[in-house]
Amino acid sequence: MAAIVLDGKQIALEIEEELKVRIANLEDNGVTPCLAVVIVGDDPASHVYVSSKERACARLGIRSIRVDISADAEYGEVVSNVRRLNADPAVNGILVQSPLPNSMDEIAITDLIDPVKDVDGFHAQNLGRLVQGDVSGLLPCTPAGVMRMLESADVDLSGKRAVVIGRSRIVGMPQSILLAQKGVDATVTIAHSRSVEMATLCKEADVIIAAVGISNMVTSDWVKPGSIVIDVGVNRVNDDSEKGYHLTGDVHPDVRRIAGMVSPVPGGVGPMTIAMLMSNTVRATEMQQ
Ligand code: NAP
Repeated sequence: MAAIVLDGKQIALEIEEELKVRIANLEDNGVTPCLAVVIVGDDPASHVYVSSKERACARLGIRSIRVDISADAEYGEVVSNVRRLNADPAVNGILVQSPLPNSMDEIAITDLIDPVKDVDGFHAQNLGRLVQGDVSGLLPCTPAGVMRMLESADVDLSGKRAVVIGRSRIVGMPQSILLAQKGVDATVTIAHSRSVEMATLCKEADVIIAAVGISNMVTSDWVKPGSIVIDVGVNRVNDDSEKGYHLTGDVHPDVRRIAGMVSPVPGGVGPMTIAMLMSNTVRATEMQQ
């Protein structure tokens, strides 16, 4: 039987409906949430991501500010902009779009953001709280979106074997912590580029979260029948189309024939990430009142 396809777009719309009520409550108290996005350079994919964040803000009535900085700007210009946004009481959320030019230290910039405005959830204080088991604050958007997607599908993760492929600061590592947290209770294996026997590891898993950045890496022979496979990957593959490329995930489309549930690319984790960013912006605004 073909897998159930988890519709990230639909779940994201439901999250937006919940957020509209909270935004209306803030408006009743004279507060309009405001998200500021700092973008450095002209990476086309980054500009596409920032535009979709701006569109989500517009749909919800969140004010958005965009600070464009040229790729050859001094590091100090990024720092001074983050400090200015930190000090502005009308700004509730700040994110610095990744990637930054190689010359700039992304972690140092993240740690300059006021933790209560850190809507990406990457500040050491917010990641530290997550490690301490406190999930009430600002969580990294993509892993939180995956958790919300699993919750929407009524997946009980307790005692399930989960393999997270990827250990990045922004996806794989926080994802693993969220899956293993008390109350969720999955048994988590973190796989990475030095892991061996990936097919065997994955074949034993009830849940696979692929966050690697390698097109179609997880193939159907890696997957246990009936398991849940969440595809975080977004890979641009060049083709002869007008755009010149199409998007693929880290999971091969054939996996749908074996798995019990899958998330599509596009239309899966991507819209969930944006919805969780909007959710963090509203949460940050509420925390600041
Ligand atoms: P990243 O920082 O490049 O991390 C990739 C991870 O994959 C690393 O931990 C790396 O291991 C591991 N890896 C690389 N090759 C591997 C292999 N052959 N076998 C097993 N593990 C391997 O990437 P990221 O930022 O986490 O993003 C991962 C993917 O998710 C990308 O496609 C990205 O575009 C996508 N993404 C999507 C969203 C969304 O909203 N849908 C959001 C963020 C990211 P090492 O640590 O050993 O190098």
